[in-house]
Amino acid sequence: MIGADRRLKDVPAVDPWFEKQCEMVTPGQHIAVIGTFKEALEARSRGLLARDAILIQTPEKTVVAYLFRVSIEGTITQNVLICGQGGLNIDGCRAQPTGEKLGGGNEKRCTLHKKQGWDRPWMADPVAVKNYTDRVKQTIEKSESLGRWPTNLLLVHGKDCVSYNHDGLTYWTCRGRCPVKQINEQANRASRLYPQFADFEAALDWLKRLIESKV
Ligand SMILES: [Zn+2]
Repeated sequence: MIGADRRLKDVPAVDPWFEKQCEMVTPGQHIAVIGTFKEALEARSRGLLARDAILIQTPEKTVVAYLFRVSIEGTITQNVLICGQGGLNIDGCRAQPTGEKLGGGNEKRCTLHKKQGWDRPWMADPVAVKNYTDRVKQTIEKSESLGRWPTNLLLVHGKDCVSYNHDGLTYWTCRGRCPVKQINEQANRASRLYPQFADFEAALDWLKRLIESKV
């Protein structure tokens, strides 16, 4: 995420091209700035709101995409209705499903207190508890069928890795230097948690899909 305001003194002179882009944006529109921390500070100095940072790990380099949003007018819902902007295309950018059963205890009334770790006033209301656990169950079912979200890490395979498709899903045989291979060696099958791409351009396409308006 972007640092404190006092660091804005480090902001470089504004790039005329970037200034022109800032004039063309729509309220609520998301923008990905791929570059240095200073360039991200420059974006923030132009009034963009820092939302998140996503790491793109390739065999050769680590690239940071800083995610910003143009100030909204009214609420998010109003902004979406008026300007067609404000949301992210989350369902279009999930990691592919793994077939695993998900859930951590919040979806069951019997384990809710243990999972939360403390009592909250609404936990004494059976209707509120049912509504909460129903919502959690829906979210889990969606993640099981569509894939996990969110992710702040994208993995790009090496040029010698080979992919194959089975039942609509993509699998990889990794060769040589590959961040997917390395992450799996550190933690068994951990790469399944993250979107994976054949090359850097495909990762950038994912980023464009994430910030495109769905309205
Ligand atoms: Zn690989």
